[in-house]
Order: sequence, then structure tokens, then C-alpha cells
Amino acid sequence: MATSPQFRGAPEHVIVVGAGMVGLSTAWFLQQRGVQVTVLERSAVAAGASWGNAGWITPAMAIPLAEPAVLRYGMKAVLDPSAPLHVPVRVDPQLWSFLLRFAARCTAPTWRRTMAALLPLNVHALDAYDELETDPGLTERLRSGPIIAAFREDEHADGLLTEFDQIREAGMALEASDITAEQVRELAPVVAPNVSRAIRIDGQRFMDPGAYVAALATAVRARGGEVREGADVRGLRHGPGGISVDLVGAAPVRADAVVLATGAWLPTLAKQYGVRTSLRAGRGYSFSVSQPVDGRQVSNPIYFPYERIVCTPLGQTGRIRMGGTMEFRPTDDPLYPARIDSIVANARPLVQGLDLNDRQDQWVGARPVTVDGLPLVGPTKAPGVWAHGGHGMWGMCQGPATARLLAEQMTTGTTPAALRPLAPTR
Ligand SMILES: Cc1cc2nc3c(=O)[nH]c(=O)nc-3n(C[C@H](O)[C@H](O)[C@H](O)COP(=O)(O)OP(=O)(O)OC[C@H]3O[C@@H](n4cnc5c(N)ncnc54)[C@H](O)[C@@H]3O)c2cc1C
Repeated sequence: MATSPQFRGAPEHVIVVGAGMVGLSTAWFLQQRGVQVTVLERSAVAAGASWGNAGWITPAMAIPLAEPAVLRYGMKAVLDPSAPLHVPVRVDPQLWSFLLRFAARCTAPTWRRTMAALLPLNVHALDAYDELETDPGLTERLRSGPIIAAFREDEHADGLLTEFDQIREAGMALEASDITAEQVRELAPVVAPNVSRAIRIDGQRFMDPGAYVAALATAVRARGGEVREGADVRGLRHGPGGISVDLVGAAPVRADAVVLATGAWLPTLAKQYGVRTSLRAGRGYSFSVSQPVDGRQVSNPIYFPYERIVCTPLGQTGRIRMGGTMEFRPTDDPLYPARIDSIVANARPLVQGLDLNDRQDQWVGARPVTVDGLPLVGPTKAPGVWAHGGHGMWGMCQGPATARLLAEQMTTGTTPAALRPLAPTR
């Protein structure tokens, strides 16, 4: 690997904008290489997509969103507002241009090319977490346990099984096997008895994302980094002493380099620096319910692929998060209760023993979805300004892996092979 001719040595002090999983992982891996970090977050740690997501660290399932089957869902979505994918029919030319370009990529050859670029991130996703978890200051840990995928009709499993074949063909190991009704009762007692088929997926992990990201912020602080909440970044200025980051209502902060890790808001700051790949908010919803009152505990994630609903047991709170949907609307639109109602209506026939009326933490979050399905990781056109984001459905899973690669690139001046297809100015 050749060092970039622009490389002027490793930065001593880096500002990371955004305290989601991606920004905080970047800060942690930069610290691992001896860099001083300041994380600036306009709201609070994990205020964006990194809070109410499903927390699946499932690299074997982290595949491109644009696949031929999505086109069928897309048509259904336009006609049916309760479908898992929701596209409001209204005049937003930029959104329709994004969706048309996205749709054009829903082909098998494009899926394979995109998957090939994601593969190195997925292969290293868990060992990047293993490295994070060597830090005694990180008090949360990923949890292991099988994921149970359940189907009401046998043939509903066909889509997932085809996907698994494609994942294996792409070179990713994936352990999955059919389980009996008795095993479903034992591993996922809340799955309704009308489920006709279930598949157990092994070797993956999961977390309570809000708790994990908060623990990561604490770990970054314990290693000497600063994580400033309420620091709203409105722009950057280059000067002789480095880059000044202008804040709303506070004095600027200066550093040698800046990493923009602002999730679905990435284009606001990054577009002017040549990051032109279209990125839109693919909004998802979640809420939590209590564990079943009859004492049977949900201790493994459950997936209803046909209905696109996920359930994750949340560690300390003793609750279960249920989530789903992909809604293409402006990032900062409010939560639409109809989307929660749609998850609840779709979930009712699938589960038993859960009180779906006793919902807490109703939440909407914006997945940063790029039109070509690849994250944006690397230098922008402005010296010292880097972008890190656009992981779409899989920022929790892939964030630490791309953070480790980016920290390597920033401190050595060489571009790891896995980052080449992810260049933000592609
Ligand atoms: C329902 C749902 C389920 C999901 N499930 C999973 C899953 O199981 N596994 C998985 O891997 N991924 C999952 N995801 C995707 C995952 O949540 C995202 O990919 C990931 O959280 C993105 O992290 P991020 O740090 O890039 O963005 P964010 O977490 O959104 O962080 C960006 C931060 O930047 C801050 N910010 C923005 N602008 C500024 C500014 N100007 N100044 C300062 N700060 C700013 C924001 O306040 C925010 O805190 C899911 C998403 C949803 C919605």
C-alpha cells in the first residue's frame, strides 16, 4: 500500500462530529492510535439512529438493501400504506430521483458487486468489536445467542433461504438450520403457535444499542477524549493553525482534522466538500414491551422476515424492543403513529404472551441510506476533512470495522483495500 502524496503525518488532535455508533467508534479507534479526540454532538450521545435500533451485530446478514425482491415490495408500498416499506406518494422530485436510481440497482449483478465491497467489513465486524471490548472502561458487552427467524407459511421462508445461498456464494460463512416447534417454544417462547417454520441462525451477536453507545462515550472520555453534548456544528473554516469548527452559540473548536459522522444528516456538512453520493433517511420505527408476564423470558432476538419485524431483548431494562419499517421521508419529520400501528397490526398474529398495548419508548430513527448501498468512508475534497457514515441498515454492525480502517488511513496515509470502494468522493 502506497502512502498518499498528500499525507502530512498523523493528526495529533481530531474533531469527530456526531456521537452515534459511527462517530464514537471513530473516536475510540483514533485513540487506539494515540490521537487526541474531541467529539461534538449537537444533541446528546446516541440521539440519532444509534438509539432505538434493533442492535443486531449480525455480519452474516448485513447485505445490500437493493435486491430484486425490494422492487416487488416497492410496488406494494406505494399501494398499501401499512406495508413494511413506506414511500409517501407526494411531490418530492429529489426523493423520486433517489428511489429511481435505487430501483435501477435492484438487480442480481449489482447486488453481487455491492456485496463484494461489503464483505471485508462484514468479515471483520466482530473482531473490531472484540478489539473495542478489550477496553476495561467499556462496561457494555455484546451478547451471543441464536437468532430465530419464524414464518407463518413454509414458502415465506424461501426468500430468506435464497438470500442465505447468495450470502454464502459471496464468501460469508453463515450457520442456519431448521428447528422443531418444540425448539421454537424453548428458544423463542413468544412466537405464536401458528408459525409453521423456524430457522435458527448462529454465530451472530446483539446489544442494547442505547446502553452500548452510552458506554462507548464513557469509555472514550475515560481514555482522555472529550465528548461534548449540545455542540451544534454549523461549518468548518481552514486556517494556518488547522481547521476551526464553528458552533451555534459557542466558541469555535480547532483541530488538525475533522471527521464528519453525522448519520442521515451527513450531506448537510459534507456535500460542499465533494461528497455527492446521494444519501436519504430510510426511517425505521421501534417501541418496547415488557417481557411476558407468565415468566417465560425472551432471551434471543426473533426475526419475522416476511413481515419485516424484529424483536430484541434489551439487557438491563428487562424489556423487548420491537421494530421495523423503512419509510422514505425527510430526516426530521415527526414520528408518524400510523407506522407504529402498522408494526403492531402486523406483529399481533405472530406473537403470544406480549402486551402490545403496553408500549414504551416509541421511536423513529433515520438510517443513512446511500443510493449505491455502500458506506462513505475516507477523505473528502477538503484537506483534513473526512467523512464516515452512510451504513444504512447496518451502522451498528459495521461501524467499528470501518472506524478501525479509517483510523488506519488517517494515521498512516495509506488506504486499506477495503476502503477503496467506499471513497466518499466516488
Ligand atoms: C428501526 C431501525 C433498526 C435498525 N437495526 C439495526 C441493527 O439491528 N443493526 C445495525 O447494524 N444497524 C441497525 N440500524 C441502522 C443503524 O441504526 C444506523 O446505521 C446507525 O445507527 C448509524 O449510526 P451513525 O453514527 O452513522 O448515525 P447516528 O446514530 O444518527 O448519529 C449521528 C449523530 O450526529 C449528530 N449530528 C447531526 N448533525 C450534527 C451537527 N451539525 N453537529 C453536531 N452533531 C450532529 C446527530 O445528533 C446524531 O447523534 C437500524 C436502524 C433503524 C432505524
